[in-house]
Amino acid sequence: MAVLLLALLPIPPKLSKSSKADQCQRKIKADTLQDVFELIFTPLQGVAHSGVPIDCADRKVRLCFPILSAWIADHMENVVLHGLKCNACPKCEVPTYELGTNAKNYRTRDYARYQSYKPEIQNAGLESDDDHVMCDNLGIGQNIFHRLDRVSASDFYKPDMLHTIYLGLFNHMMDKIEGFLKKHGQLQVFDDVWKALPPSPGFLVPKKAYREVTQWQGKEMRNLGRCILGVLAVALRQPVGAQAIPFKRALACVRALVDFNMMAQYRSHTPDTIAYMEDYLDQFHRMKDIFLKFRVIKRTQAKVDKQRKEIRRQRALIRERVAPSQRRRIRDDDRDEENELRMDMIHGETHFNFIKMHLLSHFCDHIGQFGNIPMYSTEIGELAHKTQIKDGWRQSNKNDAARQIVPSYGRQHAIRMRLLNLESLQARGADLSADVLQHLDRTTSTVSQPVIRRRIQKGRREDVSNVVDFSRISGVSLEIIYCELIQYSRHNLPAGHRLPEDHAILRSLPVELLTQLEIPVLAFQEADVYEIHRAQSTGAPHPKN
Ligand SMILES: [Zn+2]
Repeated sequence: MAVLLLALLPIPPKLSKSSKADQCQRKIKADTLQDVFELIFTPLQGVAHSGVPIDCADRKVRLCFPILSAWIADHMENVVLHGLKCNACPKCEVPTYELGTNAKNYRTRDYARYQSYKPEIQNAGLESDDDHVMCDNLGIGQNIFHRLDRVSASDFYKPDMLHTIYLGLFNHMMDKIEGFLKKHGQLQVFDDVWKALPPSPGFLVPKKAYREVTQWQGKEMRNLGRCILGVLAVALRQPVGAQAIPFKRALACVRALVDFNMMAQYRSHTPDTIAYMEDYLDQFHRMKDIFLKFRVIKRTQAKVDKQRKEIRRQRALIRERVAPSQRRRIRDDDRDEENELRMDMIHGETHFNFIKMHLLSHFCDHIGQFGNIPMYSTEIGELAHKTQIKDGWRQSNKNDAARQIVPSYGRQHAIRMRLLNLESLQARGADLSADVLQHLDRTTSTVSQPVIRRRIQKGRREDVSNVVDFSRISGVSLEIIYCELIQYSRHNLPAGHRLPEDHAILRSLPVELLTQLEIPVLAFQEADVYEIHRAQSTGAPHPKN
């Protein structure tokens, strides 16, 4: 997928929520954003109506009407672009209290209708008609896409696995699982299993115990999705007494979310796979209550603390009037009552009504309408950020840098495409002018070559039998070879098959033991992506190939 940088958006400093002056500043901010986008979208408006001739791959020229069809962004960016409050769904009019359910039948947002919305009408309590009823979630500013013709702004939202599942729900889920394991005294078992995970193709072995990781990144969360169910199943394998049902429900809940995540990664779908996804999501919502009491947010905790303080103050007054012999019994009763009140408060205040929980409900509809989900991943944009913005910034002279960053990558990209075309024409023997050929000879090839950092030994040599011989032939010092071998063995080989770490044993190992067979296996649902499975001789000292 080609990603071209068109513009850099102005980002003003963050503001606090309260003051009136900030409100004014926010409005200016929203209007500025609106103006910048209007400038960017102007060329699209003309072609959406009158069309533009485009050269097609079959060498025909067709009149095409390019329109904007998707906007790949994380939730908070969507909220700003659509002019919504932060817990509002950009696609449908779901109310806040339904975010944690699997409710799907809410009206699609009609941003054109919102343009007639006047906040002062609602503030005055004059809900004049249906147009104003569902406008609770509108923020400052307008939907920046609403003036585009032939498009539906509510369709621009695309499900985003990176922020919704990996950095959103998996993160939430792990917090709750930690609370659950702590309550049932299984946290240490979980950590031990986590640390002992064996290597496997396509899976990164965690280097730290689960609790030692302070910040999780998208890639690590994706990795976690691959192993969490197995680790949890081992940690919860021996329930005692009343633990059996909660353990079963916790596993069913995690399994449903992991299955949903796995199927959401499919590159192609059938009605059956979509039905599976819907089933998993329903199952997840049915089972998630098992983790409810572990989702105590700070605000609820503060309320619980306040309630406890008040109860204790009242009790102290009562206890003063009671005989010392009865105080102990009363204290025990009070403690039970206090716990009950605490749980009531937590159940009343805690819920799953947060936006990422709701966004999952749009995944299945999206697949039916627009195709697979990984196609719209925000990871593409995050990667492009590095090559197009950070590199552009480094190459600039830091003086009015935005003007240098924006065209820099586009220019390089255009030159690369031009060179590729000329190279292809040259290869086919096209009649190119002498100065073009001269330039082509002078430029380096546009086809990127892998950087070779190591010497590759090819063929068989009779005079190499152990690691010392290998070091002599390759010119790599023994220390470096030992270090690399031990590091490789620790990170990639299963516990029972690791290499000895004693240098005296390592130096006498036959080199055949250290060669690997790399077997490319086609990745799931891919036509041209392979995963390398490594097979290695572990038993006989002289394997034959
Ligand atoms: Zn929605």
